[in-house]
Amino acid sequence: MVKRNNFHASIITLFPELFPGTLDVSIFKRAQKEGLFSLETINLRQFGLGKQKMVDDTPAGGGSGMVLRADVLANAIDQSTKDNDKRRRILLSPRGKKFTQKMAHELSKSEGVILICARFEGVDERIIKKRNLEEISIGDYVLAGGEVAAMAMLEAIVRLIPGVLGSDLSAINESFENNLLEYPQYTRPQIFEGQKIPNVLLEGNHQKIEKWRNEQSKKLTLSRRPDLIANKE
Ligand code: SAH
Repeated sequence: MVKRNNFHASIITLFPELFPGTLDVSIFKRAQKEGLFSLETINLRQFGLGKQKMVDDTPAGGGSGMVLRADVLANAIDQSTKDNDKRRRILLSPRGKKFTQKMAHELSKSEGVILICARFEGVDERIIKKRNLEEISIGDYVLAGGEVAAMAMLEAIVRLIPGVLGSDLSAINESFENNLLEYPQYTRPQIFEGQKIPNVLLEGNHQKIEKWRNEQSKKLTLSRRPDLIANKE
């Protein structure tokens, strides 16, 4: 019997209607039904100031765009989380530490996560220290907001929670596990537009298949992502 944890994600966003998005289909739908994970959105707008519910203001020192106010974000965080909440508080940010499969594994074993999706030019710097936020980036490019990044992180995390994937073995041989990319996969038909499935995969010798897959993984990783092998811990 696999150990089941109930992972709870709280997402602070100006666009709650974007969720659950991809987190409500396929394996994720079933996982939610089975109580393996749950998700709530907190609408940042409800913490806005004045009649207009303002959440942002112009950058100190000038420059383009708008900046999310620290006081508004602080209220959203304080009022939507309990004092004894031990979940990591993550601010989606292109300046952050890069999200990896390793981090996805760590988070999948935790009680959950609080994800803060910014928009515009980002957030007032002071909130980061004052509310102990970890800045995390999903890659070296700039999105318009943190929502897609939050969804990407949650997909990667939730599929690793025991019981979410059809077979827990599915996650073991995947890309980035052991710092390797996955070997090539094939299925029927045996011949597609003149191309055959490699013979070794059809002969039923499992030792040979494993050896072939391992070699292919190493070859692919060396040619496409030598940095993964260099970073191996
Ligand atoms: N001016 C900022 C970019 C703001 S983009 C800068 O140059 O660093 C608006 C928001 O989208 C960000 O605050 C963040 O929440 C989200 N975002 C954009 N790119 C992201 C990325 N690569 N990873 C995670 N979040 C991102």
